[in-house]
Amino acid sequence: MGSHLTDHFLAKGNQVTVVDNLHSGQVENLAHLEGNPNFTFQNRDICQDLSDLYAGEWDAVLNLASLASPVDYTKYPIETLHVGSLGTENMLKVAKESGAVFLMTSTSEVYGDPEVHPQQEDYWGNVNPYGSRSCYDESKRYSEALCFTYAQQFDVKVRIARIFNTYGPRNRVNDGRVVPTFINQALQGESLTIFGDGQQTRSFCFVSDLVEGLERLLWSNYDQPVNLGNPQEMTIREFAELIVELTGSSSEIIYQPLPHKDDPKKRCPNIQRAKEILKWEPTVPPRVGFQKTIDYYATLMKQNQS
Ligand code: UDP
Repeated sequence: MGSHLTDHFLAKGNQVTVVDNLHSGQVENLAHLEGNPNFTFQNRDICQDLSDLYAGEWDAVLNLASLASPVDYTKYPIETLHVGSLGTENMLKVAKESGAVFLMTSTSEVYGDPEVHPQQEDYWGNVNPYGSRSCYDESKRYSEALCFTYAQQFDVKVRIARIFNTYGPRNRVNDGRVVPTFINQALQGESLTIFGDGQQTRSFCFVSDLVEGLERLLWSNYDQPVNLGNPQEMTIREFAELIVELTGSSSEIIYQPLPHKDDPKKRCPNIQRAKEILKWEPTVPPRVGFQKTIDYYATLMKQNQS
């Protein structure tokens, strides 16, 4: 997401500074920007002091830092808690001191395993505070609380995007999330591994749609949370079958135990607020976005083989 946003803002003539410790990101996603005079990269951890950035003439500070894949945050729960607490506050301080707008990329996980479906922003969620997903869910909820407090106490202009499952080129092959996992399993002729019974649902949004939604939210005047995602819901079983079909793979589909007992059973955004306030809704049909993503990983596989 970060590299796609960077490309987007640079193409519009902005200057962009990326701050990333590359814990879960890949610097190769920015390689094509080397030598671009409007682009700067700082390899550092936002959980450490960022006060040298206070004097920057930033128009906007966007906080995308987190370990968003369940595989990653299960492996690094302390880092996940820190980045959503210390990291978010350090970034908020940069916005406060420089007068920039602050955009927080929050998540549909703030709704936990939801009892309201589809999820709308005024639903407070069903989150287990003491479980294997809580390091991620609670750190994002705490980030939202920090944003609210900085807006109230210090007049920081905050924007909160609650991002639902998003996919597209540049995700790590071994990221662990279902889209890169199933596509790469299918391309390599391996079995697609459904966790649980495959009846859980997700709603997948292509990255270019998300970039557009984030930009509209950033420059809006709206300080309440906004869901950004694609409301076309499908079961994980349907998704696996679609990937087998689109790749033309002979892979079989197998079932494995759910790694997280709190794995949300249903997830689908109500995007009425984004439609009304941002005049935004996704435009890339799932089959088109998935095909583009398959093509990206197929090309990557060929490059790695040669
Ligand atoms: N999932 C799966 N097989 C995999 C990876 C994920 O069946 O190899 C399931 C996972 O249990 C969840 C859904 O796919 O129900 C989406 O998982 P993902 O890790 O992409 O993100 P989440 O939406 O859970 O944060």
